[in-house]
Amino acid sequence: MNDFLMKTYNRKSASFVKGEGIYLWDDKGKKYIDALCGLAVTALGHAHPTISNILKQQSETLIHTSNAFHIKPQEELAQKLCSLSEMDKAFFCNSGAEAVETSIKIAKKYGNEKNIKNPKIIVMENSFHGRTIGALSATGEKAQEGFYPLLNGFIRAPYNNIKAIEKLLLEHDDIVAILLESIQGEGGIIIPDKGYLKNIRKICNDSNLLFMIDEVQSGLCRTGKWFAFQHDQIIPDVVMIAKALGNGVPIGACLAKNFAADILTPGTHGSTFGGNFLSTRVGLAVIDTMQTESMDKHVKDIGEYFATQLQEKISNKKTVQEVRNKGLMIGIELANECTNLAEKALQYGLIINVTKDNVIRMLPPLIINKTQINDIILILEKLID
Ligand code: PLP
Repeated sequence: MNDFLMKTYNRKSASFVKGEGIYLWDDKGKKYIDALCGLAVTALGHAHPTISNILKQQSETLIHTSNAFHIKPQEELAQKLCSLSEMDKAFFCNSGAEAVETSIKIAKKYGNEKNIKNPKIIVMENSFHGRTIGALSATGEKAQEGFYPLLNGFIRAPYNNIKAIEKLLLEHDDIVAILLESIQGEGGIIIPDKGYLKNIRKICNDSNLLFMIDEVQSGLCRTGKWFAFQHDQIIPDVVMIAKALGNGVPIGACLAKNFAADILTPGTHGSTFGGNFLSTRVGLAVIDTMQTESMDKHVKDIGEYFATQLQEKISNKKTVQEVRNKGLMIGIELANECTNLAEKALQYGLIINVTKDNVIRMLPPLIINKTQINDIILILEKLID
């Protein structure tokens, strides 16, 4: 069967057939702890009864019309997301990359409206924003290899470095926006210094730049706040989300505030599937469930527990360079390349991922409890030894 798939992934040996909560079962009946949740997607766990019921109900009622008509759940979800993020308006799409594309179009149009011929967006080294050409052009250089020429109009700064941004602003007079992840996920769970986002907010205010934050991986309670930028008490102009919003059902959104929310007008942007009845009803159920279960607070507490356990039992190991976490966004940096550990972990019944060649990354379901964390730690100890 593999012969009919483009070889875009090096797939692992396990093949899953069933999931429940934080667990998955493979086709041989073996049980696994899913500490990755499809890369920050199934945040409420697998086969969540509320989500399953909504999918059943809505698919039996109405899945899709078109954005040429009003879609009630889309409007309700937009309102909820705006209220949680302090944004004003939402555009719905189907993935993180599409949400990023939307933000790039907002920035370009903002520049065009200011009569800037070649508007530029400052993006970060070591970033990840997706695989479509616009999002890839914004992404760190490694993923770009082989796909030149890319979209122009991006200039790059080292992450967590305010001086570098100030320097770029002195050198260029056509910068219109700054785009970054509030925590770099694919880049190895890189958490910037406290105050970094606040400083960028000030720079953007002073120079009339749009501050555009990619929360595709870090958003929706993953770090112990609804959005990771809220740890720095700032409000961006544009926010991108996806992944956890559908708990596995494809959905993404680009949220924007003030004038940025009105830059895209009828005919300038769109999506056939984006924001249809099925995905937005699921999105609403995800947000409702997170609100009812105070998921931001739960993740803050359980994330602290996870961090303590990692510090006590993992960080002292010879090969461990650093353990980093914000809520349930967790990276364990090893001294050596360890890409084979994701496959080895499967033998122990644990699903993890390795990014940047030497960082074990875990993005467990937000519903995880202390006992389950203890089980993960036991496996990690063996794995790292
Ligand atoms: N932005 C960030 C921060 C991501 O982590 C990802 C995916 O990993 C994307 C954008 C792209 O999202 P998608 O794969 O849904 O297009």
